Amino acid sequence: MTQGATAALIVAAGQGVRSGGTLPKQFALLAGKPMIAHSFAALECHPAIGRVIVAIGDGQDAALTAALGRDVERVKGGATRRLSVLAGLEALAGTNPARVLIHDAARPFLTATVIDRLLTALDSDDGAVPALPVADTLARGDGTLGDVVPRDGLHRIQTPQAFRFDVIFDAHRGWRGDEPTDDAQMARKAGGSVKLVEGDMMLEKITYPADFAAAEARHAAGMRVRSATGFDVHRLVAGEELWLGGVLIPHDKGLSGHSDADVALHAITDALLGTIAEGDIGTHFPPSDPQWRGADSAQFLQHAAALVAARGGIVDFIDLTLICEAPKIGPYRAAMRDRIAALLQLGPGQISVKATTTERLGFAGRGEGIAAQAIATIRIQGE
Ligand code: MG
Repeated sequence: MTQGATAALIVAAGQGVRSGGTLPKQFALLAGKPMIAHSFAALECHPAIGRVIVAIGDGQDAALTAALGRDVERVKGGATRRLSVLAGLEALAGTNPARVLIHDAARPFLTATVIDRLLTALDSDDGAVPALPVADTLARGDGTLGDVVPRDGLHRIQTPQAFRFDVIFDAHRGWRGDEPTDDAQMARKAGGSVKLVEGDMMLEKITYPADFAAAEARHAAGMRVRSATGFDVHRLVAGEELWLGGVLIPHDKGLSGHSDADVALHAITDALLGTIAEGDIGTHFPPSDPQWRGADSAQFLQHAAALVAARGGIVDFIDLTLICEAPKIGPYRAAMRDRIAALLQLGPGQISVKATTTERLGFAGRGEGIAAQAIATIRIQGE
């Protein structure tokens, strides 16, 4: 892949309101999240993309912040899509990216695979677009059927469209013609080569109210269940606080470790990371790093949950088993469920906390340590 920074621009400046709703469609809920949140997450969590900026319309600042749950970099769009893109490119130009992906918020279900194809194509071409073959018969007609249009060599062009930054920025700055259909045609007119790469049915544009239902159905049909386990042990020693499942428990010993040593939250964190094959807690929070000394393990858990969410994953259930001789877990079970549920923004009914002893056998039986194992079950777009 070409070296240098890659930026992304999402065009979300439309004022069109979904039928029956009050928000422009890019902020309307789709598959449980505001539409723009889907493609924003896909772009932001792609390892090659360093900066994501959103072009929004007049008065949409608050809607964007609400949709993404935080302030993200944004630029005010123009009167046309072309002018919105130009405003975004001007904002990005300051950091001189090598490549840029230009995407429409109305195509929410963007995958890393499509992004990879586009960026690879920029090794040889100035631009790249996702394309799908035309399957339907095409015909002319104005009330009465006319001639069939041969569909050989015809493509449906999607976004994101990827470009070498200087090529598309120059094309936009020098544009003098009519309103173009898309950025790729502008790059072509400026003399750039644009490669066709394989598109994705999931990237279909959402234009009409009925498209929402169709997109929801496609998204739901593509969801797959994944489960993964986590396991952890920490040593019990005198003079330490005992944190278990995010709850401080009075006991004559506490768990020892680099962080707060909450063995339960560590096991759940590993289970969540397992569902997206993202390594383990040590990959993300190395014990050698002094910043995690005494750290509240809640942040490890929430980081793992955020990674799952960024992939479009939905956590359905957590099952936790604590393995220890003492303390008794029963009196703290409800508090642990409530705390874990709150950290994961789930209901307590989605969190199971169980406990067992080992009949006084082994390290747990001798009270030398506490073990925890967890299984996380999520739904995520299948691969
Ligand atoms: Mg641990």
